This record gives sequence, C-alpha cells and structure tokens, in this order.
Amino acid sequence: MTTFQELGVSAPILKALDAEGYTTPTPIQMKALPIVQRGSDLIGLAQTGTGKTAAFALPILDRLHQDRKHAGEKSCRTLVLAPTRELAAQIGDSFRAYGRFLGLSTAVVFGGASMMKQKQAMYRGVDILVATPGRLLDHVSQRSIRLDKVEILVLDEADHMLDMGFIHDLRKIATILPRARQTLFFSATMPKAIEELAAQFLDKPEKIAVTPVSSTAERVEQAVIHVEQSKKQDLLHALLGQKSIKRALVFARTKHGADRVMKKLDAAGFSADAIHGNKSQGQRIRALEGFKKGQTRILVATEVAARGIDVDDITHVINFDLPNVPEQYVHRIGRTARAGTDGIAISFCAPDERAYLRDIERLTKQAVPVMDTEMSLRTPKADERVQRPKGPAGRSPHPARNRAPKKHHASETHGKAHAKQGHAPSRSRDEGDRRDRKGNAVWSNNGAPPKYRKQRKPTRV
Ligand code: AMP
Repeated sequence: MTTFQELGVSAPILKALDAEGYTTPTPIQMKALPIVQRGSDLIGLAQTGTGKTAAFALPILDRLHQDRKHAGEKSCRTLVLAPTRELAAQIGDSFRAYGRFLGLSTAVVFGGASMMKQKQAMYRGVDILVATPGRLLDHVSQRSIRLDKVEILVLDEADHMLDMGFIHDLRKIATILPRARQTLFFSATMPKAIEELAAQFLDKPEKIAVTPVSSTAERVEQAVIHVEQSKKQDLLHALLGQKSIKRALVFARTKHGADRVMKKLDAAGFSADAIHGNKSQGQRIRALEGFKKGQTRILVATEVAARGIDVDDITHVINFDLPNVPEQYVHRIGRTARAGTDGIAISFCAPDERAYLRDIERLTKQAVPVMDTEMSLRTPKADERVQRPKGPAGRSPHPARNRAPKKHHASETHGKAHAKQGHAPSRSRDEGDRRDRKGNAVWSNNGAPPKYRKQRKPTRV
C-alpha cells in the first residue's frame, strides 16, 4: 500500500501527519499529490469527507517549504477560496496542523469578522491565505491585500460557490490573479456551469475523480420515512429519544425552519443547537465547538451553514426537509460516515416532497429504503432512551417540558401503519428481509434494519 512517504511528502509534514493519526493516504490524496507536485493544474471531483483538503494542502505546503521566499507586504503566495466561513476556517486549521513544523504563515479572512484584525494578519504578507470571495474583494478594494504574487490558487467546493452566487466575485478575482500560476479546482459535482467556470480558471488541467456523486457516499446507510409535514417534529423527537443516536446533524431547508426545529427540541429537553446564516459568527463558532466536543448532541443546520462542518463521529444525518437540489442530498449525507466510519442518514419526506425524493433516487441511481414510521415512533425501552435534563424537583425549567408527553401513534404519521406502538410491521417475507405490501423494506421492532442492498453493519437506530 502506498504511504505518504512514498508519495514524496517531506519529513516535517510526515511528522505532523503522524500527530494527526493519518497512516494511509486516501484515494484522492494518492491521485492528487503527484499531479500537484509536477505543477499541473487539477480538477478534482470529490466530496467533502474524502480527504481532499489534505490532497491539496500537503503538496502546497511542501512546495512552499522547498522554495522558501517572502511573499512581500500585503501579499500571499497561495490563495485558497472557499464558499463559507466555516469551511475557510477549517481549511486554515488544516494548513496549520499539517504545516506545524514548517514555520509557514497562514491567514484566514471571511465576512462577519473584524476587517482590522484581518488586515493586520495580512500586513506582512502570508504564505497561505484562505478566503471567502466577497471578503477577499473587500480587502482588495481597500488595498489590504494584492493578488499579483499568487503562485498557487485553490478553488474549493466550486459547486457551492456557484450555488451561493459567488460567480461574479470569482470572475473578478480571476482578472486580478497572475496568469502564470498553478490552479487546483475541487467540486463535488460537475454540472455545465462548473465546467465553464473551470475552463476560465484552469490551463490544461488533469482530471481526477473519487466517489462519483451518482454512487452516493457508499458507507452511509440510508432510509426515508414518509410523513406529513405537521408530524415531522414529533417524529424527530421520537427518533432522537433513542440513545443509539449519539451525534446527529439535522437539516432544515430554511433558517427559520432550522430555528423552529431547534427551539422545539430545546423545549422538549434535547441537547440541541442551531447553525445558520442569521447567526453571528460567534454563535456559529460556539455552536460548532459544542457539537464537536460532544457537549451538544444535536445540531440543526441549513445546507449553506453546514458546508464547512467537519465533525467526525456524526452518527446520524437527519433530513427534516428533503433538499430540492438532489446533489445537496449527497453533500448532506456525506457529513456522516467521514474518515472511514459508518453512518446513517434518515430523511423525512412529506407528500409534497416526493418529487425531490424521485430526483435524488435518479441521481444516486438507487432507491432509498423506506423505513416504517411505526418502528421509528415506537417508544424506546428504558435503556435505549436518552436522559433529558430536568429542572429542580424533576421538573423542567421550561414550561413546555412539563406537559404530559405526547403519545406517538403510527397512525398519526402513516395512513397504513399499525395504530398500536410496538406492533410488528407487516411482513411478507422472512425475518431477515421485511417488506411492506408495496415491497419497501421496513425496520423491525427489535431495531434490526431492513436488508439494504449494501447492508454492512447492524443499523444503530
Ligand atoms: P476532508 O474531505 O478534507 O474534509 O477530510 C475529511 C476528514 O478526513 C477530516 O476529518 C480529515 O481530518 C480526515 N482525513 C483526511 N485525510 C486523512 C487520512 N489520510 N487518514 C485519516 N484521516 C484523514
């Protein structure tokens, strides 16, 4: 098996990788490193979770280290563009971690934070600048950074850049950058608009791809639950009441939706926080840190805010709403099953979201197994239940938490399901392969999952 050493990674970086616990390069790292090392432009078709940050950061650090020179005042040698503040901050952290024994300088700039501090960080010049496009242009127009010395440009999550409307900013940045440079371009999907953007930035690029989007993150076990919109919150509480869900990322389509879901979770005594575009930078950082450290068990997020979330050990992704762009589904479920772990993605599908589900299944070329609502709403046994905090004398400080618990009946959410909790789902086959009348796989009462096409490990819900 190829090692980082065989890929030509230098000793100080090997030492840092060792400290990070990386023993083997991921497929994208094996493919990307030689290309970047020979100085070619690169298009990398890869989702987050594949190790793509190190795929570009390691050879860049090596090159800056081998050919040391001062960037010059208010200038940078490497520019990394990322769509969100979280992703930018994380990329900055990765460069610092992998390059900790090199003594290279890194600055990160994004909107919603102090311009002054960012100006100071760039004043003497930096080896690596990680930036979101809008804030970078603000600094360019205030002459706090110049881009004429950029040797290497990285565009990360280019498809998200387009989704977020950064196309004009990117075009503007392209005109300021020197032509003689190396460009590395990463995107999880490659629709036509991205190809056009790539053509504008890249010169005879070499292409690599890992885990094509149509095959969906392979290790993620998926399930969909058909449920009325008005019953989704109850269903969410029932699911999250189970201890096996150790760390869950819940996706809502809108910022208000995310807030609503989070507040109701909080009122019901769950350990939850929310992250979305209406939150201040401080709030977002605090929410992420709490989630990373395991202080918060559930993070409710919108698609955009979740882009930079790099939290290992997310056991479950729950799509409270299905995304209307099928590629986003792949991004979302890719938040679990990171760095070699397994994960579970459960999607709630209201009647008016069925078209989105069809689009997702068309893109991923696989049917998402249907999970019976009866199973998901069954009352967990005492040892499977999470303990929710209570106020003095066992009562919650929150009035809503003191109300009599709602009874969840399967019939509330699923017309055809059995009304009584704890009932076995309709079975037409043997124990190992349960299906309802429509032939959909259903989950059994003892928590055993339906037989998926790619079933590997016992499912944890
Ligand atoms: P990324 O796709 O860059 O967001 O990386 C996904 C996760 O994989 C991050 O948590 C990295 O720290 C981790 N990672 C990246 N490369 C490796 C590696 N070679 N071995 C183990 N973990 C890795």
